[in-house]
Amino acid sequence: MTNWQATVLTLFPEMFPGPLAHSLAGRALRESLWLLKTIDIRGFAHDKHQTVDDTCVGGGAGMVLKADIVDAALTHACSQYNEEKPAIIYLTPRGEPLRQPRVRSLMKNNPSGCILLCGRYEGIDDRVIEKWREEKGLIEISIGDYILSGGEIAALTLMDACVRLLPGVVNKQESLESESFELDLLEFPQYTKPQNWQGKAVPEVLLSGDHKKIATWRQGQSEKITKERRPDLWDAYLKNDLSHQK
Ligand code: SAM
Repeated sequence: MTNWQATVLTLFPEMFPGPLAHSLAGRALRESLWLLKTIDIRGFAHDKHQTVDDTCVGGGAGMVLKADIVDAALTHACSQYNEEKPAIIYLTPRGEPLRQPRVRSLMKNNPSGCILLCGRYEGIDDRVIEKWREEKGLIEISIGDYILSGGEIAALTLMDACVRLLPGVVNKQESLESESFELDLLEFPQYTKPQNWQGKAVPEVLLSGDHKKIATWRQGQSEKITKERRPDLWDAYLKNDLSHQK
């Protein structure tokens, strides 16, 4: 099997790898634990001005990326993959809100990687999105309920979340397992040395060396914080927990 590859379709290929050239993802990229390709959507324009957008039919401000150009760029991106099917994702505020279970399922179900389509301006002609959804299973993902200027930062966010799950990227598997969302709860508080800082001491139990007690304390803290800060996650956790007991 080839390594996990992200192929980004964008009008701004120079934005990549950007922050992903650093730290864990950057090291993994240099070691080819994952691959990153960019495809310049403008390369699929067919006129001398390299036009990729046009005015919005029906009126309204702003420009819309043209269906034929995005279609050709997506077709080219697919040809980069062999027989394995990458996930095809359009980053859009209208998409499914990105959550950790979706990241996990992308990594499990599409080990060859993903194609990430970044919109700009007012977005992309909906007909090409509809075609690729119906024919190739394109999914739409949002990174949050706010409007970015383009899909590039959303693509970087999604790639970072994905790459962390590749074997060998995060050193200790344990640190992934205890992170927020992995156990359907937010993470417990973390501390390092010194034991006392500006009059604040780390909780006594963490110094006890008793691993069972520490695990119980951490679980209790995770539950408390989730319940206080994210009632939506807490309700889901309770439902899930009850279903496990059945
Ligand atoms: N007119 C669009 C709307 O109201 O849904 C917003 C277009 S936005 C200015 C331009 C591009 O940025 C979108 O096509 C999408 O690719 C990207 N984008 C903006 N916000 C995003 C978000 N929250 N998540 C993912 N992508 C986003």
